[in-house]
Amino acid sequence: MPQEIELAQQLQRMDRQLAQLEAEIRALPKRIAELEKALEAHERRLEADQASLEANQTEQRRLSRESSDHREKIGKLKKQLMQATTQEQLTAFQHEIDFCEQQIAANEEKAFRLLEESEAQAETVKEAARALAAEKELVEKRKQEAQALSEEDRKKGVRLYRERQQLGKEVPPKLLEHYEKIRKRHKDGVVVAECTDGSCSSCMMTVRPALLQMIRSNPEKLYCCESCLRMLYYNPARPA
Ligand SMILES: [Zn+2]
Repeated sequence: MPQEIELAQQLQRMDRQLAQLEAEIRALPKRIAELEKALEAHERRLEADQASLEANQTEQRRLSRESSDHREKIGKLKKQLMQATTQEQLTAFQHEIDFCEQQIAANEEKAFRLLEESEAQAETVKEAARALAAEKELVEKRKQEAQALSEEDRKKGVRLYRERQQLGKEVPPKLLEHYEKIRKRHKDGVVVAECTDGSCSSCMMTVRPALLQMIRSNPEKLYCCESCLRMLYYNPARPA
């Protein structure tokens, strides 16, 4: 393999690694934001559960107040009933008493249903609060892990960047220029491609037989793919 190819491969390895590290570092805030977003959604749900529990309890208190009002009214009506002088008055008071008693019974039934509901809601709220606390702890842990990883990536990146700069100085300037030109053309960062089965392993285009012949007979020279312009090398150890 030509020495230029080996140097270009070294550069390519470093550049691709650097690009990967950079992508990981850049993805970190997004990952943290996603974790926090999920947590927030669960917080909102807990708040909604708490609100419906409170509404239920408020309604229970209201029903209880209403029933005591009715009871108070029944007391007064009973006194009035004792003093009634006509059948009409008796019937009217009795009607009112019956009405209040019906209301109390209806309220009690409603209150009982609400009580049952609120017991289930309270259990849900308690469970959700417990799950949320555990989730918060986990998110905090994940955030710290992600930050530590990112810090490690950053250090690795700095080290790699320095090595890459150093290598850049050692590589013949013409080769480096050629390498950079190809690298800018291809977003995947692949500058060096192997010639396998008569085609460029990167762009998959068939290599012209004449060029293929040259590559095979003189693999120590540097060739380029005529389609994607990547540096092309031939590995004789591999069957064509
Ligand atoms: Zn190609």
